[in-house]
Amino acid sequence: MNTIIKDAKSKQIFQKAKTLIPGGVNSPVRAFGSVGMTPRFIQSANGDKITDIDGNEYIDYVCSWGPGILGHAHPQVIYAVQKACAEGLTFGAPTKKEVILAEMISECVPSMEMSRLVCSGTEAVMSAVRVARGFTKREKIVKFKGCYHGHSDGLLVKVGSGAMTSSVPDSAGVPSDFTKHTLIALYNDKESVKNLFEKNGSEIAAVIVEPVAANMGVVLPEKGFLEFLREITLKYGALLVFDEVITGFRLGLGGAQEYFHVKPDITTLGKIIGGGLPVGAYGGKKEIMEMVSPAGPVYQAGTLSGNPIAVTAGIETLKILQKDTSIYQRLEEKAALLEKAVKKSAGETVCVNRIGSLMSVFFTAGKVSDYATAASSDTKRYAEYFAWLLEHGIYTAPSQFEAMFISDAHTKEDIDKTCQVMAEYFL
Ligand SMILES: *Cc1c(COP(=O)(O)O)cnc(C)c1O
Repeated sequence: MNTIIKDAKSKQIFQKAKTLIPGGVNSPVRAFGSVGMTPRFIQSANGDKITDIDGNEYIDYVCSWGPGILGHAHPQVIYAVQKACAEGLTFGAPTKKEVILAEMISECVPSMEMSRLVCSGTEAVMSAVRVARGFTKREKIVKFKGCYHGHSDGLLVKVGSGAMTSSVPDSAGVPSDFTKHTLIALYNDKESVKNLFEKNGSEIAAVIVEPVAANMGVVLPEKGFLEFLREITLKYGALLVFDEVITGFRLGLGGAQEYFHVKPDITTLGKIIGGGLPVGAYGGKKEIMEMVSPAGPVYQAGTLSGNPIAVTAGIETLKILQKDTSIYQRLEEKAALLEKAVKKSAGETVCVNRIGSLMSVFFTAGKVSDYATAASSDTKRYAEYFAWLLEHGIYTAPSQFEAMFISDAHTKEDIDKTCQVMAEYFL
C-alpha cells in the first residue's frame, strides 16, 4: 500500500497562493485548517479517483462536496458539455435547455411546480427566503443551529448569548440589523421551534431546514421532526423551506422530501443539479413562485443564470440518474459497507451517522442528533484519522463537520480498500 505521499509541489504553490488569495483558497474548508495540514492542489480527476500536482492518486470521498454523484468526468456529461461549448458559452437570453431542466426538476421533485435557476446554493437559498417573505408579507425566519444555508448575510447567524431568541451575526461584516429577523432553533428539538412560534408566530415567514443536516457532519432528522415542522408552519401560516442543496438527487431522485414523505412549500437545490458546474435552483408551488419577477414583485436576476453549459451538465447528470434506476441501490450498498467496516473496528468509540450515500464518522461516543452532540466530537482525533486516510490514498473531508460522499463511480475494489484502511486505523 502506498504510504509515502509527496507534497512538495502542493506546499510550494500553497505558499504562493496565500500571498494572492485569502488563506490561499477560494472557499475556507479547502485550506485543511482544521486538520492542520497543507491542502493538496488537484491536477485532475476521473471516476472515483482524484490526482494532485505531486502525482498522488486518492480515492475521493469529497466528490466536490456533493455534486460528483456519478464520480468525476463522466464521459456522457463531458461529451455533452464539450458539444454545448462549441455552440457558445452564454447568451443572456432564454434557451430550450432551461425549460427542459425545469421540467426535469418538476418530474423528480413534484413540489417544485415552478423553479428558477441561479448559479449557487447560496443564491438559491437567499432568493427562496426573499420569496417566502414576499409571499407571506412577514419578515422573520427560523433556522436551525448547525444547519448551513450558504453565506448570505441573513443566514450567517449564531445564537446570541443568553436567550434562544437573540441572534447575532456569525461573521464579521454582517450588520446585526441584517440578522435580527433570523431566529435560531435547535435541530431535532420540537420544543425550541414551538417556543419561537408561540412568541413570534404571526411574524414568521418561513422555517428553513436541511431535512437531513449535512453541514455539522451528517445528522438525521428524528422520527416525526420533519412532519412536526410541516404541521407547525401550516398552523401559523408560515412556509416550510427544505434546503436540499445536498440531499436533492442524493437520497433519491426526489430528495429528502420523497424519502421522508414530507412536502415543503419551497425547495432549494444546488450541487448535483449542476453536475459539477455552477447551478442552483429554487422552486415550489406555482402561486408562490409567481411572486418572482417578472411574473411578480419579488426581484431576482442573474447574468449567468441558466447558463447553457452548466445547464447541459445538470441535464445530462439528471438523465443518467433517471435512467439507471439501480444507482441509488448501489450507492446504498457501497455506503453500507463503509459504515459496517467503521462500526466493526471502532466499536463504541465513534458514532457513525449514515443515510444513503451520506456518512459521517463522529469521534464521540454518544449519539449525535444535533449541533451540541456533534460539537462534542474530538476534532484532534478526527485530524489524526484524516491524515491516516490521506497517507493511505483516501481523500475525505478535511473537517469533522462535513459529510463523506459516496459516488456511483466508487468501485467495489476501492470500497474494500477503504474499508481496510479505515479498519486498520481503529485496530
Ligand atoms: C453547499 C450548501 C449550500 C451553499 O451552496 P453553494 O453552492 O456553496 O453556495 C447551501 N445549503 C446547503 C445545505 C449546502 O450544503
